[in-house]
This record gives sequence, structure tokens and C-alpha cells, in this order.
Amino acid sequence: MIPSILPTYNRAPLTFVKGEGSWLVEADGRRFLDMAAGIAVMSLGHGHPAVVSALCNQAENLWHTSNLYQIEGQQTLADKLVAHTFADTVFFTNSGTESCELAVKMARKYFHARGEDRTEIVAFNGSFHGRSSAGIAAAGSAKMTEGFGPLLPGFTHLDIGDHDGLRAAITDNTCAVIVEPVLGEGGIIPVPEQCLKGLRDLCDATGTLLVLDEVQCGVGRTGKLFAHEWSGISPDIMMVAKGIGSGFPLGCVLATENAASGMSAGTHGSTYGGNPLGCAVGNAVMDIIVQSDFLDDVERKGTLLKTLLDDLVAKHSAVFELARGAGLMAGLKCRLPVGDVLSASYAQELLVVPAGDNTLRLLPALTVTDTELKDAVARLDRAAVSLSA
Ligand SMILES: *Cc1c(COP(=O)(O)O)cnc(C)c1O
Repeated sequence: MIPSILPTYNRAPLTFVKGEGSWLVEADGRRFLDMAAGIAVMSLGHGHPAVVSALCNQAENLWHTSNLYQIEGQQTLADKLVAHTFADTVFFTNSGTESCELAVKMARKYFHARGEDRTEIVAFNGSFHGRSSAGIAAAGSAKMTEGFGPLLPGFTHLDIGDHDGLRAAITDNTCAVIVEPVLGEGGIIPVPEQCLKGLRDLCDATGTLLVLDEVQCGVGRTGKLFAHEWSGISPDIMMVAKGIGSGFPLGCVLATENAASGMSAGTHGSTYGGNPLGCAVGNAVMDIIVQSDFLDDVERKGTLLKTLLDDLVAKHSAVFELARGAGLMAGLKCRLPVGDVLSASYAQELLVVPAGDNTLRLLPALTVTDTELKDAVARLDRAAVSLSA
């Protein structure tokens, strides 16, 4: 008999009943150190007082009105995002995959509105852009698309680093290139800064829109508000979700005035997107994360984590192959099957996340302490010892 929850997940037999910062309490009372953070979502950790009070205050006043009316908190949050990024305008969604839908629509509409027939989108193998029809077509992996055809047409896939392929793939019909500055689900693979710069130049030379998917690597995770800032380039359109809501379903698409020029009244919408509850939380999150000392601390902790993980890899070279990542977005490529390392980590009451390329991800709350990072790596060390025994 089919379970009452559609069985699309292989869930661990763990039920958490309480969260405190970087800690999750299991129903049996065990305290797990959380380096998963709800898959890079809990940017400020579990139960952050500023976020809790923002949500509770909003819940007492007004939950939802729809986008038929002005929403004060949405305006404030949009103004903040515009003030702190490349963007001139923002559309709010409830998830990353909805942000992908709009990014694709916006790129195509841009050329349509100019009377140009440019609809093709270039994307990269190993990427993840969500589970909607546009998201799976953009990522293109057989694992996600098999059986769901006919797929949304118009996507071409290349390997990251295939520069000649990229130059050939961008034609008169190309409207956009979509890329994650740091591939998340693909195994925490940072796209080199020169590649992002080269991609920006190529897009400029061909009039193609550059869409960055910062759903996982954005909102402070790499030590800058958005990961592309490290390379000095900026996109035309950017997808955001995960960390911006720190656990409340909230996402957005940021765009330049030019890239958004096709999106007039009636061309897109969302019942819940940017509702008062989500925006109250998003405002509280942004107020904390945009502070430069907060971001500097994320960068410092990211460097600490990388050092700890490099030492771990050196010590357990039969278990781990290498450590990579950016800021508090760390990947440990394993030599043993990542599922075995994951199980051994759970046995040490440590939550980490598997990813592509046989990689284990550490995506702690950005508020994680040095002590917690050291504790996490000590648990990985014990997990590796248990696997080597
Ligand atoms: C998680 C993720 C998405 C999809 O976000 P959902 O909120 O699950 O729809 C899209 N792109 C990237 C890079 C992601 O990590």
C-alpha cells in the first residue's frame, strides 16, 4: 500500500521536535549538531530571536492580502534588495523553483517584447534549478527528467569549463545562459572567477542575458551577500530563495530594469509570493545579513572550516578525497560511498547533506560558532574512524 506521504524521498529515521541555533533535538532527546540547516535554508539558525519576533508580530497583525493590494513589508524588502545588489526590481516567490520559472519567462519575454526571436537557453551539466518543468529542463539530468517528457523545449547543456562549446552554443537564438556561481546539489563546485567573468563578457558581446541561480549560494553563504560579488561581475537576472526566508518559504527574482523590461502588468503573478508573513521574515533576515561585520565573520568561519576539513582529508585519505567550497558552503568529496559516510555521521549525531559527485555537504547556519564548526569536524573524524575500523 502506498504510504500516506507520497514516497518521493528516502528519509532518515530521525524526527526532530525542537531547534536551537545549530542544534536539533530528536524526539528521543538526542541533540544533533546541524550542518545541514534545512539544506542551506536556516541562514540564521533555528529559533533566531529577531526572526521569531518578526514572524510572531506579523502573525498577530496580518497574514495575507494577495498582490491585489500594496504590501508594506514587500516594498521595504524590495527596496533593501535593490539597495544592496545589482538589481533595479524584485519579484517575490515562495521557492527556488518558482524563481527559476520566472527567470526563464523573463528572459524569453525580454526578446519577445523587442520583436526578436531568441528563446534558447544555455545551461550546465551537474546544475540544479528546482523541480518545476522549467527547473528540470534547465538542469537536464536524466535522473530528474526521465518519464516527465515532453520537456520544456529550448535548453542546451554544456560542461562547466567547456569554453569553446559555450562560444559555439550561444547563437542568434540564445536568450540566456543560466548558471549557479557555486554548484550546490552538483557537489559544491565553485565556478572559477575567470569563468564567470568570461561568461559575462560573452553575454555582453552577444546581447545574451546572464541568469545566476543563487538559490543555494546566495544570501551571505559565501561571505558576500551574493556569491557573484567575489568575481566582480553582475547578472541581468538572479534567482534567490532558501536562505532569504531562514525557514519561511520565500524566494525572489532580482533583475536589472533592462532585463525586466518585458514584464508588464499581467505577465506574471503569484497568490502567496511576497505575502506579509514571508516579507516580515525576509526583512529581519536581510537586516542582519547585510551588515559587513556579519559577512566578514561568515568569511572568517568559512576559512576556518576549510582548514579543518583539509586537515580531516589529510588524516583520513582513505575516506575523503578533497575538501572544496566557498565560505560556509563546504563539500567533502568522499572516496567511500557518500551514503556510508552520511550514515556514519548520523551515528555521531551530526547532520550533513549528500550531493552529486559523491560529495558530502556542510551548510551550517551562518550564525554557527567556531566551537560548533570544530565539534562538527571532530564528529566527522569519529565517523571516519568508525568507517576505517
Ligand atoms: C534548492 C535549489 C533550487 C530549488 O529551490 P526550491 O525552493 O526547492 O524550489 C534551485 N536552485 C538551486 C541552486 C537550489 O539549490
